[in-house]
Amino acid sequence: MSRTRNVGLETKNPENVCKDKNCPFHGQLKVRGKQFTGRIVSDKMQKSVIVEWVGLKYIPKYERYKKVRTKLKAHNPTCINAKEGDLVRIGECRPLSKTKNFVIMNVVGKLEKYALEKEAKEAGKKREKVKEEQKTLTKTEEKE
Ligand SMILES: [Zn+2]
Repeated sequence: MSRTRNVGLETKNPENVCKDKNCPFHGQLKVRGKQFTGRIVSDKMQKSVIVEWVGLKYIPKYERYKKVRTKLKAHNPTCINAKEGDLVRIGECRPLSKTKNFVIMNVVGKLEKYALEKEAKEAGKKREKVKEEQKTLTKTEEKE
């Protein structure tokens, strides 16, 4: 499939061309149903990513809103090839696997803060590890 299909959604067509049959632009995949925008938290799978976004849910008893994180798996066509930290728009499609019912339609932008956040998280993990090691050390010393 070398021709780019008009998907009928208000998205720009990708610059690259791919041979992925599950691509909404160059394959046979139809996009219908719900659409969301979120950031990619993992791109470790082949042609799949995990997209996450934060929404608000109203709790009537406390008359306040609660933050709700939603994580979904989405197909990552080779022509789009979105990376971790990208802000992407995803659309619902037919089930592509047991838990994958969405496909990336376009990359909206990049989250510059994301890299910093990840670094900070990893630094925190290291610190926790050091603390745990110290704890175990003190415990063993106490035993002796
Ligand atoms: Zn494509």
